Amino acid sequence: MSARDVKRVEQARQRLIEFLVQGDHVLPGSLIERTVRCGKANCHCHAAPPELHGPYLQWSYTRENKRFTRWLSAEQEERYRSRINAARKLRELVSDLERLEIHSVEREEGWGT
Ligand SMILES: [Zn+2]
Repeated sequence: MSARDVKRVEQARQRLIEFLVQGDHVLPGSLIERTVRCGKANCHCHAAPPELHGPYLQWSYTRENKRFTRWLSAEQEERYRSRINAARKLRELVSDLERLEIHSVEREEGWGT
């Protein structure tokens, strides 16, 4: 591994370590705002044109290849939004490290471009 590659991998690993040492909660998934129709046939959400309810916030995540969605109250959003953002940051840091590790092996072995 070149000295430059070693340094870049080490920096990426350090960023990941610093993130984990902070000890923030991480919550996988994403937040989506949705508007919805209710079950009342005479409601304005069934009119033409429809006036839908919301927007409401929905948290979606995948567990064991199954998709789950949960409606969040404003209070729940306040509690969980930062955890969801932190999980995205964690994935970015892991991806960066993996990308640099792949890059350094490709260079080391003379593979790829
Ligand atoms: Zn309605």
